[in-house]
Amino acid sequence: MAAIHLPTIMLGSFAALLVFSVFFILDWLRARHRLELLMWSLSFFTAAIGFALLSQRTRDYNFFTISLGNSLALAGLAFVWVGLRLFDGRRLHIAAAFAGPVFWTVLTAGVPEIGSSVNIRLCVYSVLVATYSILIAREVLRDKVGETLPSRVVVAIWFFLHGSIYLLRIPFSFLWPVVAGGDTRVLQPFWYGIITFELFVHIIVGGFSFFVLMKERMEWEHRKAAETDALTGLANRRAFFSKLDRLTSEDLGRGALLYMDIDHFKRINDSQGHAAGDAALREVALRLGEGVRAVDLVGRLGGEEFAAFLPDTEEGDAMAFGNRLREVLAREGFKVDEGEISVSVSIGVASGCALSSDELLKRADIALYRSKLGGRDRVTLWTPEAMPLPV
Ligand code: GH3
Ligand code: MG
Ligand code: MG
Repeated sequence: MAAIHLPTIMLGSFAALLVFSVFFILDWLRARHRLELLMWSLSFFTAAIGFALLSQRTRDYNFFTISLGNSLALAGLAFVWVGLRLFDGRRLHIAAAFAGPVFWTVLTAGVPEIGSSVNIRLCVYSVLVATYSILIAREVLRDKVGETLPSRVVVAIWFFLHGSIYLLRIPFSFLWPVVAGGDTRVLQPFWYGIITFELFVHIIVGGFSFFVLMKERMEWEHRKAAETDALTGLANRRAFFSKLDRLTSEDLGRGALLYMDIDHFKRINDSQGHAAGDAALREVALRLGEGVRAVDLVGRLGGEEFAAFLPDTEEGDAMAFGNRLREVLAREGFKVDEGEISVSVSIGVASGCALSSDELLKRADIALYRSKLGGRDRVTLWTPEAMPLPV
């Protein structure tokens, strides 16, 4: 392993860290609300300065190379962890991020026996690197509520491995100690160069992993936005039908579809204004969403029309659900800036199994039409007798 030249690896790491730092800041300039990008840029920059100092070190103690250089490299790792907490909207532990680097500096600069012993330094530093690496791995593994990013597991394993490899330096330093003094830029024990090279690879892979996580986060947000109705937050028409297709093709598609239309909605818009109409749509969506189970599918199909698919639900239960919702809406009005609004809804219910989503919707639509014809504010179940419709 004599071919591995430590200062060159350190300079390579310095360059890689600097490049990542620049890319993260450029990304942040394009999306300033994503503060984690700024944090990651800062963390890579801090570590880059640390590695520039480390490239100048010998094994003899020197404040700038040994205490400060390692401290900045460690601070870079700790700031990566802070960036991850920002990424997932969690509370920041700034003191914990500074604790390791400050502890290292004070210990190595303040206790000459430790500062001058290369093997003790190595053991202490390994524990600190492993601690932050495992904190990062744990953080990455925890999904943000409602979101799944496929690369999280890989990134977590990677950081966990890095922490574990760093811990291996402790037994290695007992078995094959690093010898201080002399021309220390030439490597001594075989393992030291290998692990330092691993560090270099880790910097490259680590830097890329955060770009990948950010890319997956953005894809997730775009997909969510494309599937969500902006006014109510429910699934939009396209997402509703694509999920309904999936549900009705599974398990014989047993379930009930409720098709709901707000009565005389135009009047709300005309008398209280469009903003009040929007508020009414949000309120109806909220009450619809509150009434369903986690397995149920709800969506806004357009305008003042909503739908809910209740898997594994008999028609009696679906009718009861529709009536509860209808009663809650008719009984309890709600306040908006423009005054009090009360709405009623008409609902059509179709249930069955092995029906395509198109057929279910057609039946629920016919039943809804019956509710409207029957005087509104009611729930109607589709039956074969309900057909054909008068035109
Ligand atoms: P019916 O009882 O027969 O259903 O009568 P209606 O007035 O509810 O039905 P109609 O289809 O005549 O009117 C629907 C209205 O919904 C017309 C349209 O302006 C309004 N609308 C559609 N989308 C929105 C929206 O996003 N916000 C608001 N405020 N109004 C909307
Ligand atoms: Mg309508
Ligand atoms: Mg209507």
